[in-house]
Amino acid sequence: MSYVVLARKYRPQTFAELTGQEHVSRTLQNAIETERVAHAFLFTGARGVGKTSSARILAKALNCEQGPAAEPCNVCPICREITDGSSTDVLEIDGASNTGVDDVRELRDNSRYLPSHSRYKIYIIDEVHMLSTNAFNALLKILEEPPAHVKFIFATTEPHKLPITILSRCQRFDFKRVSLAKIVARLRFIAGQEGITISDAALAMIARKGDGSMRDSLSCFDQVLAFCGSQVQDDDVATLVGVVDRRLLADLSAAVLDGDTQAALEGVGRVDSFGYNIRQFTQELIAHFRNLLVIRSVPNPAGILDLAEAELDELRRQAEHHEPQAIQRRLVLLVKAESEMAHATFPRLLLEMALLKMASLQPILPVQQLIERIKALETSAAATPELWRAPAQHAPVAASRSAAAAPAQQPVQASGGWERFVAFCLERRPAVGALLEYGSPLHYAPDRIEIGFPEGSYYLTSLQDSETLQAVRELAAEFNHQPTQVAVAAVSGNGEDAPRSLVEKKKRDRDERMNELRQEVRDHPVLVESLKVLGGEIVEIKPL
Ligand SMILES: [Zn+2]
Repeated sequence: MSYVVLARKYRPQTFAELTGQEHVSRTLQNAIETERVAHAFLFTGARGVGKTSSARILAKALNCEQGPAAEPCNVCPICREITDGSSTDVLEIDGASNTGVDDVRELRDNSRYLPSHSRYKIYIIDEVHMLSTNAFNALLKILEEPPAHVKFIFATTEPHKLPITILSRCQRFDFKRVSLAKIVARLRFIAGQEGITISDAALAMIARKGDGSMRDSLSCFDQVLAFCGSQVQDDDVATLVGVVDRRLLADLSAAVLDGDTQAALEGVGRVDSFGYNIRQFTQELIAHFRNLLVIRSVPNPAGILDLAEAELDELRRQAEHHEPQAIQRRLVLLVKAESEMAHATFPRLLLEMALLKMASLQPILPVQQLIERIKALETSAAATPELWRAPAQHAPVAASRSAAAAPAQQPVQASGGWERFVAFCLERRPAVGALLEYGSPLHYAPDRIEIGFPEGSYYLTSLQDSETLQAVRELAAEFNHQPTQVAVAAVSGNGEDAPRSLVEKKKRDRDERMNELRQEVRDHPVLVESLKVLGGEIVEIKPL
């Protein structure tokens, strides 16, 4: 008995079996149930995602003896004919080999005749973008006045190549790439049906090779089965589909995260002996670290990573022992090494150096913890007081900060009134207040306010709007308990001469504060000493 390829044997025969295109199925089924079926459909999407299968299911659902129904019965003679491809009323045409105008003319002439024994004459034209311009014109003539008994289903991977006149006459459905998890689930079902022993990891390797295409995944599965029979080993799959064994990625990443230089370099040896391309392997390792980082950084990584459940669990187990910062610092080193590999004569050396560096990274300690440690040291080192003379210098640092904090340019009174006015507006009319935060108080007095905005800015045009301006006037009068003139002016250039807006002021205050903090931390005698004693670097400074 001849072998039927899996893609054919397990071709979906109902909308329910169609994997990963639920949005299409639901719309088509609704259309059938509410009797609002279009004359022409356009199914677009990558290869092997279910376009032709959907076209056949739709044709059956429309022509089924029990129908039109949301699902075909698949047992009546009409359904069976369509499944076998022997129906005289459902015609599948390959756009790639019937590109000429004559083919379409023939189709046009044929479409005039009623279906021989079904409800509709249905034309499924695959790769419809391959038709010639004249053929499209002939097709357009039918689409303009389609006979009631005719339906068209066009399928294409390249909808942009279709004339707009055709596109506008079709109901369009965009098929998605099928997610890895869904492909794995389908492969698992098929493996069960076929009595095949295979791990989820191996199924994921096959699905990844399919890259979102169910058909490609199934052909890959065919190849694997042809080689392995019904007992499939992970190693064999890895070799066959040419993907890096995920265990190797897991082992190598564990080695560098645990600081095991020996295991890291041995891992590179294995990579080389398996004949993997070093740069490609590095890219896979980058993807692996990225997965770990995402898992440690977001509450729902499954929504972001296209991974099979088993892989996700494995990554979770690995990630839980490591801080996101630790993963990120190593990822940065790896990315740098990968970019250098493009022109390198010895990519293996680059990978080894990067892995050694990654394995030798010291853990980051929060400054607070460092200070505590150093304090403990301080107590025990009380016998050598000269080491700790430095703390006396701490006081002047604080003094200089408070001196720098005093505003130098603006009269305190004017800016104080403006700030309170904007706060008042933010409370009463948040949208208006938010605009004012971007304005420079060119003049601020209870009877007259002049506000500057950058020339041509969104804020300027918004404030010049008479309604908004009126709102500001009313708010100002209410705030000052007297009529207040409000003027809006454009500030040209970079606006350096104008008083700062509150937004700028806040940003400047924050920057200044961070600069001071940075300086303070760098100069802090305890920290200086702790860096010396414990080794390390300042990676990040967070205001508490
Ligand atoms: Zn039927």
